[in-house]
Amino acid sequence: MTASADVLIIGGGVIGSSIAFNLLQDGFKGRILVVERDASYQFASSALAMGGVRQQFMSAVNIRMVQYSLKVLQQFPQCQFRQRGYLFLATESNCEKLQHRYETQRSLAAECEMLGIAEVRRLVPELRSDDLVGGLFGPKDGYIEPRATLRAFRTRAEELGAVYVSDEVRKIEKECVYANQSGRIPAGRIVIAAGAYSGAVGKLAAVDIPVAPVRQQLFRCALPRPWPYEFPVVIDPGGVHWRSSPNDEIVIAKTDPDEPPGFRFGCDLDRFHHDFMPPIVHRLPEFRDLKLVFGWGGLYEMTPDHNGIIDRIPDIEGLYVAAGFSGHGLMMSAATGKLMSELIRTNKFETIDASVLSFSRFARNELFWDEAMI
Ligand SMILES: Cc1cc2nc3c(=O)[nH]c(=O)nc-3n(C[C@H](O)[C@H](O)[C@H](O)COP(=O)(O)OP(=O)(O)OC[C@H]3O[C@@H](n4cnc5c(N)ncnc54)[C@H](O)[C@@H]3O)c2cc1C
Repeated sequence: MTASADVLIIGGGVIGSSIAFNLLQDGFKGRILVVERDASYQFASSALAMGGVRQQFMSAVNIRMVQYSLKVLQQFPQCQFRQRGYLFLATESNCEKLQHRYETQRSLAAECEMLGIAEVRRLVPELRSDDLVGGLFGPKDGYIEPRATLRAFRTRAEELGAVYVSDEVRKIEKECVYANQSGRIPAGRIVIAAGAYSGAVGKLAAVDIPVAPVRQQLFRCALPRPWPYEFPVVIDPGGVHWRSSPNDEIVIAKTDPDEPPGFRFGCDLDRFHHDFMPPIVHRLPEFRDLKLVFGWGGLYEMTPDHNGIIDRIPDIEGLYVAAGFSGHGLMMSAATGKLMSELIRTNKFETIDASVLSFSRFARNELFWDEAMI
């Protein structure tokens, strides 16, 4: 069967699916094909993520994007959004920085508050707090179930008429792509939404998309006893952070700043024992009896300034990119889909001014920094 599309999206992860869903929800009448090479999503970041959602960023665009996504997530019960909050713990060494973040975030209308030590202890009474002075808390933040969120966006997109094609795009030309099984697929517009693979997919069109894959590891552990409440996302100043998971489990993360770029998956048990466990046990001594259930690695899709790209590709008419969210794409997926829908339908952003997330900023060497990346 020869397919053709008015909009062809390469990558059916949460970003590609949200773009398809938003286009159709916004009344786009053309045919939308989403080409996804792996229906199991085994190596898709959307399925391997932690699920954190926070409006605590240091730039208007990132805050607004998450605020927009938050409203959408509240309307999608399938995503299992737990608004338990995001708690950055403050010690003497980082409290000035967190105070500065609080002031900037508030000036940009992010919902957050500085907590004293008593309030921190009310949220998580079991914390070791003799070295803490308080915390920065986002009460509306929380976490979603990543795979359920991916499924929710894909299902809604399909219900509205998007067609998912199980195939791998091998080449991109003006107004068409070539895929392994389907051969040539004519397409009026083509969107690269291939997550950490977007740099590689860009090469199929001879475009340099500066997105590099960098592994991030997560570990799911059983709590030593039934816990009477769900944790917020708790971020220790040293970087280890955790959130609750169903059935009295937690998911733990800690970014390794020395992880080299590359398509690597799997987890490193040595890291769990030597890098994750000591700081998390220091922070919550009962965690010494955590039982490791499962560990895995997935790919962050890193740009040079750790912010996403939502744009047309200049010079190649009809080619767009939505990628490079550098470990924050799940929480920004609803807004990204909306913004790409606007760009395709109306040629401009309407809901949020996302022009700082341009593709050309890298070539101009005008990188866009947000100090709130973890
Ligand atoms: C361990 C980990 C923890 C994370 N934690 C969080 C978090 O707490 N909060 C948050 O917001 N974000 C988090 N992220 C980031 C988030 O998961 C990503 O930003 C987001 O999922 C990106 O979605 P995507 O659809 O762009 O990419 P993906 O989900 O990777 O989807 C891209 C798809 O493109 C397909 N594809 C690639 N090449 C081709 C081709 N040539 N032809 C056809 N299909 C192709 C792939 O098969 C894949 O399914 C985390 C990521 C990881 C790995």
